[in-house]
Amino acid sequence: MLPDEVVTLYRRAKRVAAFTGAGISEESGIPTFRGDSGLWVKYPPEKFASVTGLLRMFITQPDRVVDFAIDFYRMPLMAEPNPAHYALAEMERTGKLIAVITQNVDNLHQRAGSKNVLELHGNMYRLRCMRCGKHRYMAKDEIEGMLNRLQQAKGSRIRILRVVTGIFKRCECGGRYRVDMVFFGEPLPQDVLFEAERIVQEVDLLFVIGTSGVVYPAASLPYIAKDAGTKIIEINPVASAVTQIADHFLQGKAGEILPKFLHV
Ligand code: NAD
Repeated sequence: MLPDEVVTLYRRAKRVAAFTGAGISEESGIPTFRGDSGLWVKYPPEKFASVTGLLRMFITQPDRVVDFAIDFYRMPLMAEPNPAHYALAEMERTGKLIAVITQNVDNLHQRAGSKNVLELHGNMYRLRCMRCGKHRYMAKDEIEGMLNRLQQAKGSRIRILRVVTGIFKRCECGGRYRVDMVFFGEPLPQDVLFEAERIVQEVDLLFVIGTSGVVYPAASLPYIAKDAGTKIIEINPVASAVTQIADHFLQGKAGEILPKFLHV
């Protein structure tokens, strides 16, 4: 059961947005990076989360970079949207929710049916031409094929490099593609960030779901919302950096709590 004040707040809100983090996809089988089984335990972010770190690792330990790529894509490739993703998509369909602002790169909001998804950190299935900015989505089969080829190329830096240059082919403009994700040390897409800032100030209610609230500048969004008078409902099994400013903290899993809002 949702607390009465939460039900009233949600019913009265005319425009709602959601700010989501890795936790919303945890019930889809994608571990959060920081959790005990998270990626950062096996692959320290100072080595694997930045472009320069990855290049350095590639020079010294290319097989580790291959292992990282395989582990990074493995769980998301198998994952399906969960009831939390579907609940947000349904809220949008009924006209209550105007946007999902996500830090996730796993494409699960879109696969659940959400239309207005602002991706602050990019998308792991998308490539971007570094010269003209053109986008290209990679199909699941294409990524699986690429990971298989990388696995077979292990043991030879040249062979790995050949597979990599095969993936990041040249665009029609002559520029080279890269994965369209924001690595540590890179700026967020400014247009997406500005739009997210505008939305959190404009809505009456912001759901903050499954984020530890420590990755900046994305983590500033709940504070910007609060300053603008937007009410905040946080959903997380444990308290986060956002909890202190949340109007309501609903402790628990997103996939169990969010669908309840569809029946109030
Ligand atoms: P985080 O790992 O820092 O925090 C995850 C939060 O989710 C924690 O507070 C945790 O308590 C909570 N959580 C765990 N299970 C939950 C559940 N079932 N329901 C609700 N909450 C749950 O994640 P972050 O704040 O998003 O920051 C990590 C960065 O890593 C982000 O920038 C994100 O882009 C990236 N990331 C993305 C994915 C993905 O795309 N699925 C996965 C891991 C990390």
